[in-house]
Amino acid sequence: MKDMNGTFLTQTQKQRLAELGAPESGIAAAFSDTASRDLFFKETEATLIAASKRRLEQLMSVDHRPILIEVEDRMSRWLREEMGFTQVATPVILSDVQLTKMSIGDDHPLREQIFRIDKTKCLRPMLAPNLYELMQSLYKVTKKQVKLFEIGVCFRKESQGAQHLNEFTMLNLVEFPSVPEGQQRERLTEIAKGAMKAAGLESYELEVTDSAVYGETVDIIVGEMELASGAYGPHPLDINFGIFDTSWVGLGIGLERVALALRGETGIKRVGRSITYLDGIRLNF
Ligand code: ATP
Ligand code: MG
Repeated sequence: MKDMNGTFLTQTQKQRLAELGAPESGIAAAFSDTASRDLFFKETEATLIAASKRRLEQLMSVDHRPILIEVEDRMSRWLREEMGFTQVATPVILSDVQLTKMSIGDDHPLREQIFRIDKTKCLRPMLAPNLYELMQSLYKVTKKQVKLFEIGVCFRKESQGAQHLNEFTMLNLVEFPSVPEGQQRERLTEIAKGAMKAAGLESYELEVTDSAVYGETVDIIVGEMELASGAYGPHPLDINFGIFDTSWVGLGIGLERVALALRGETGIKRVGRSITYLDGIRLNF
């Protein structure tokens, strides 16, 4: 394509360089003629392929795991070893009853995003209902403070984009009972900061907002992206899970978004579950 300012990379060339991880600025470059453009393309492609090969070599012989798993390791270690939380694994298949308990009824916006299995079951869009259930029954039998977390896949139909995947990895933690009423927001803030430190992220902001499902939430934001959302109780939904007038705090963190923020990648697909990308590397050079 040629205009007053010069010749630009073709759509195919741009796509190829973007796949290989070229920054936006590199793709937008202008040239005096097609020969110099094509030469630039060839050289840039070769440089990016060489860099991809080096990264792949680093992954296979040194790191042995992609950034997503690295984040999962850092966070779970911090929670178990420093924070005294216990890790659990709950079912990915959820009954509609659990959704209803979260007040995600037929008229709720999240309803549209649910992957259905059959008339009564779906793939979980969040970990919260299972953790609610588990913390309640665990407290009932132990009468001790319950500190639980789960790291697992959640499913939501999304219209894609740079920050949304149809399947993503959620870390959800709950502390029940938590600090006395009036101090929950502070406790949540403390946990959120600890989580970011454990993940290795230094620049982020904490933002208090109102959520339809959770009431007041404390969110972790990096740039324009929400990394995590925290909520606390007592909360109107508690009664659906047999919980009455008890202080608790919970935080849900999207681990692909943490990986994205750590890597500074342009799209979440590169760090998500994939057979096209491995640890952000496009496997077709
Ligand atoms: P958004 O408004 O960005 O869609 P959300 O409010 O739907 O986010 P929550 O339901 O609060 O997100 O889920 C907690 C965290 O899970 C989010 O902060 C985000 O990190 C992550 N998350 C949610 N949906 C997705 C998705 N489709 N892909 C990747 N991560 C997601
Ligand atoms: Mg959403």
